[in-house]
Amino acid sequence: MDAEQQLRVLLNDARLAEDLKHIAQKVLNHERVTFDEGVTLYKKGELSYLGILANYIREKRHGNKTYFNRNFHIEPTNLCVYDCKFCSYSRLIKQRGEGWEYTMEEMLDIVKRYDNEPVTEVHIVGGVLPQYDMAFYQQLFSAIKAHRPNLHVKALTPVEYHYIFKKAKVDYATGMRLMKESGLESMPGGGAELFHPEVRDQIAKDKCTGEQWLQIHEEWHKLGMRSNATMLYGHIEEYWHRVDHMEQLRHLQDRTGGFQTFIPLKFRNKDNQMSNVKESSVVEDLRNYAIARIYLDNFDHIKAYWAMISRTTAQLSLSFGVDDIDGTLDDTTKIYSMAGAEEQNPGMSTKQLVELIKNVGRHPIERDTLYNVITDYQDYEFADEPKPHFYKLPVIN
Ligand code: SF4
Repeated sequence: MDAEQQLRVLLNDARLAEDLKHIAQKVLNHERVTFDEGVTLYKKGELSYLGILANYIREKRHGNKTYFNRNFHIEPTNLCVYDCKFCSYSRLIKQRGEGWEYTMEEMLDIVKRYDNEPVTEVHIVGGVLPQYDMAFYQQLFSAIKAHRPNLHVKALTPVEYHYIFKKAKVDYATGMRLMKESGLESMPGGGAELFHPEVRDQIAKDKCTGEQWLQIHEEWHKLGMRSNATMLYGHIEEYWHRVDHMEQLRHLQDRTGGFQTFIPLKFRNKDNQMSNVKESSVVEDLRNYAIARIYLDNFDHIKAYWAMISRTTAQLSLSFGVDDIDGTLDDTTKIYSMAGAEEQNPGMSTKQLVELIKNVGRHPIERDTLYNVITDYQDYEFADEPKPHFYKLPVIN
């Protein structure tokens, strides 16, 4: 049975509650789900129901295609002037001994290590420190582009931009234009956490507000550029806070169309100030991916970070609305492992990523940052793959 047949069977199920049936019908008709319906999905939608709706939308948009990219991360520092309660990664400046602070040269050396590797993107994000100011990042981006012009620079979030623009006394529009001129090509989705101040003030009090996060993305989109968006879920928030977060993203996307991908980020409780908060279950994670796919009807892609949720859950998520599982990573990020993710040294070869996707019947596509197809791996044979050795049967005349 294909995804549409499954949805039609669901609609004919006499046991399905009327409000859920109404939402399922809207999905079939490609109509937008309202805020209240979003909350209903969280409160009443069972995993199998949500999976049918989300998979229908996913397969309408992408069929079986599942995207990944070949990237590496640079995390300039894990020291930070902020003190977000959920953060397992940062060390306050007073704990300097436990941190790292890369110099410009050290970061360029990391880039050079990939000179002969077929990576397409460098993802730069880390803590916030005064010495990493606007001039520093302008110089870094320019130097990377001068060294390797076709390496896509995806860097920093509104948390850093708000801080460095304020210090440099430039407004968001000017700041983003100057970053673009220095070589910035897209923005990752981090720093969004949860927009609603009721939650944000408790978990990430001092950094940019939700409104400022959205304004900076809007300025970036106005330059014709693309970015991603995240949501940190599964801690102290209520369901309606998640819907409120997605509503604000959907609203901005209606105006600019600049977002490419939505990435739900599961709260992990290792070694942070919220270690007493229980983590969400895998079922809740899958429900959340599915609701994101249903609610964000103007986002092309829903991504799961395999390094954060484990390889198996990433495979499962491909049936719950997800069509992208991020990149090879090459063990260049500590953000997930320090928060307690199963993957303590995240890195997968292209072949491993391709197999992970194929093993659940999906179609692996390597993309660049802007979702241009680099390689279609559906019928691809890896050069180093051991070939079966057949011997010739004797021919009997
Ligand atoms: S989440 Fe980001 S801004 Fe907050 S403390 Fe951690 S590194 Fe700093």
